[in-house]
Amino acid sequence: MIVAIDGPAGAGKSTVARAVAQALGFTYLDTGAMYRCVALARLRDPQIDLQSLEIRLSDNVTLGGEDVSEVIRSTEVTALASEVAAEADVRAAMALRQQAMLASGDWVAEGRDIGTVVAPRAELKIFLHADPQERARRRAEQTGRPLSEVLTEQQQRDRRDGEREHSPLVAAEDAVKLDTTALSADEVIARIVQLAAERGSGAQTR
Ligand code: C5P
Repeated sequence: MIVAIDGPAGAGKSTVARAVAQALGFTYLDTGAMYRCVALARLRDPQIDLQSLEIRLSDNVTLGGEDVSEVIRSTEVTALASEVAAEADVRAAMALRQQAMLASGDWVAEGRDIGTVVAPRAELKIFLHADPQERARRRAEQTGRPLSEVLTEQQQRDRRDGEREHSPLVAAEDAVKLDTTALSADEVIARIVQLAAERGSGAQTR
């Protein structure tokens, strides 16, 4: 079974997707970490060959064997990730890798295009969204950075992710849309686990 969780930055995807995966006993796939790895590799070597990138996701994120879990969360890498994610060849390469992983087993996959492009036949699709001010407030609280800075960067990322030509951030038609503005993480997690239990009983073969 695949649970796809898409939505903009700061809507609560990571916290929620991790916890839902744990509650269901599914494997968690953070596709954003893959775009972040591509961005980091590009920063270090602008000519880097995409196919040569060895990205591994488990408790840590490794790139060519190096633990990059922290450095891929830096402001610089975050900004570049949404730029490289707009490139058609980068998206195609990452989507192929993601589809290979999702081909067997039970997954909670988090990203921007999981329900629309990567796993259009996912048994459950969730689109998490929240008021932009609230999303920025959460990110500022998490990172300790000034709210105004976070808000400006978030607007740029939202615009790039939403307006790009290839796989823009949109909710799949059959996604359950959850506005997390006034909900606690626990409430969102419980709702998705409940939906997964309902859908799981009628799970179809991919
Ligand atoms: O989710 P996260 O903020 O870590 O993702 C970093 C960037 O990677 C996003 O801003 C987005 O541009 C890109 N991304 C994407 N498609 C995905 C996951 C992430 O385009 N499935």
